[in-house]
Amino acid sequence: MFSNRICKSLVVRSAIVVLLAACTALAQTAPKKPASKSSEASSSKSSSGKASATHAKGGATVAEAQAFMKKAEDQLEDLTVRASRAQWVQENFITDDTETISAQANEKLTAVVTQLALDARRFDGLKMPPELARKFLLLKLSLTAPAPNNDAERKELTELASKLDGMYGKGKYCKQVEGKEKCFSLNDLSRILATSTNPDELLDAWVGWHKISVPMKDKYARFVQLSNKGATELGFKDTGAMWRSNYDMSPDEFSAEVERLWRQVEPFYISLHTYVRKQLIKKYGKAAERPDGMIPAQLLGNMWAQEWGNVYPLVAPADGGQGYDLTKQLEKQGLGSGPATLDNAKKMVKYGENFFTSLGFAPLPQTFWERSLFVKPQDRDVVCHASAWDIDAKDDLRLKLCIEVKDEDFVTIHHELGHNFYQRAYKDQPPLFQDSANDGFHEAVGDTIALSVTPEYLKEVGLLDTVPPESADIGYLLKQAMDKIAFLPFGLMIDKWRWEVFSGQVTPAQYNKAWWDLKAKYQGVAPPVERSEADFDPGAKYHIASNTPYVRYFLARILQFQFHRALCQAAGIQGPLHRCSIYKNKAAGERLNKMLSMGKSKPWPDALEAISGQRQMDATAILDYFAPLKKWLDEQNQGEKPGWQGMDTPTETAPRHTSR
Ligand SMILES: [Zn+2]
Repeated sequence: MFSNRICKSLVVRSAIVVLLAACTALAQTAPKKPASKSSEASSSKSSSGKASATHAKGGATVAEAQAFMKKAEDQLEDLTVRASRAQWVQENFITDDTETISAQANEKLTAVVTQLALDARRFDGLKMPPELARKFLLLKLSLTAPAPNNDAERKELTELASKLDGMYGKGKYCKQVEGKEKCFSLNDLSRILATSTNPDELLDAWVGWHKISVPMKDKYARFVQLSNKGATELGFKDTGAMWRSNYDMSPDEFSAEVERLWRQVEPFYISLHTYVRKQLIKKYGKAAERPDGMIPAQLLGNMWAQEWGNVYPLVAPADGGQGYDLTKQLEKQGLGSGPATLDNAKKMVKYGENFFTSLGFAPLPQTFWERSLFVKPQDRDVVCHASAWDIDAKDDLRLKLCIEVKDEDFVTIHHELGHNFYQRAYKDQPPLFQDSANDGFHEAVGDTIALSVTPEYLKEVGLLDTVPPESADIGYLLKQAMDKIAFLPFGLMIDKWRWEVFSGQVTPAQYNKAWWDLKAKYQGVAPPVERSEADFDPGAKYHIASNTPYVRYFLARILQFQFHRALCQAAGIQGPLHRCSIYKNKAAGERLNKMLSMGKSKPWPDALEAISGQRQMDATAILDYFAPLKKWLDEQNQGEKPGWQGMDTPTETAPRHTSR
């Protein structure tokens, strides 16, 4: 039911920390664990101001820089493994003690990274070999909330970060029900958004959740100030510019890149929007209809209207779904139903492993099977969010997932193992290069593999008797598009807002208006009730409250189709992309491994070229994949006015913040 595959913690400390590596987290679920996140902001007491002052710039030599980096990487590797183990234990045995131990390990790691980033400044301006220069850059960029270089402000920033994260995590909507106070968590409210079709109930859940962030606003504004100060001290214009510096191009070039990709997919999004709006109006009547053509945010099955898969039944084509039911097929294999037994869970994971070995990758190590968490334990609390781990940056790979016998988990297993095989492929890179080529790549690889879980593949591994006819493709594609295409403008607007906030273009007095202006412009989604600056709706989204960069998810959505198309080509597979599975194809496996093994050692266009022959991200692949659906949507939309008032079109000359 909840199929949002948004990873909340993909390599939180990016380049440095391989722990946590990658995950499939339910975006609706309140995060458990501020520890690893908030420690971003650093809380080291020892890192006072000795940074660059003792070494005059320009006096350092390349040999010194090399020695510094060698020592830094050794230290980072050691601390990362320690933090990683502590976190694994914490997520597998949640107690006050394990939370403390894990937080301490993270704090230590962050303190050291902060200090190293500051110390590294003494090599600023030194001409060094490209690989070494790249390491210095990555070291600097490894903090998402750079702290000012003084104890008081650093402490304030750390506290603000963990407070904001905690406010979100504890957020609840409480109201009187039959004379008694009843409180609803984000999980409860998300379930309502996902399953209810009662407009009053939907409205109440939406409004209720958006109250949790009202008290965050001032804290967030101060957080922005302090983080910007830290970023400028490291030599960046502001924190947003610092984030955008992690893509092997200038921050402005990156903004333009993202905009260019959006332009490629925008017409498709508008078609989907137009079709879905029409179906929702059929279902809800006036409650779904607005004179400006926007869709009310509470009707799309998700608290943030970011993915719409939950309302697929409301928009499904008349002749139904995708033509098969994988959950039933799994049950038919004797795997049981509902929460899996350990044996059956392992059998499901074996399907995933088999996919990779069929491409030519070595099987997973024995320890993977011994140390992973495959089923929800009866006797203790664990973090069930799917995640793929790389404990020692060598061979200690693990999966953590409370497996149920159902289609979604079957696909998730393939996705997560994509992370694991990426991790193993780059393990021989130096520590700072043990990461994906850019932060969009890791998620994209997992999803690329999941795209090969086609009916043809299922038939080949004995999970499907007959491949459904082509006529079932529209249902199959529409279901996917409700998540993958619907997500695109959302994946973009989150950081658009944040970049404007960090740069000062949007001031605290305009936070909420700017937020809804962007939602209107890109998503065509409107709040269900009047909003004002007394609200702080951005804070009702986890990644804002927790300061997790977001544009990576946008990139991942684009890249996964580009990878998929390239691998299908390498495999020599003809025919529609959505029917292509690279299963058993060694040529595709080799091509994939070529990119994976590079890690982050080279600028990402090099890695992209290794897999696809292209040096530019390219959204035409996602369009190719969904081409039959686009044709069908446009037929359905005949006679409808496409889009909405105030939508973002290249020809539109309206000023930036208009509608509403
Ligand atoms: Zn993932």
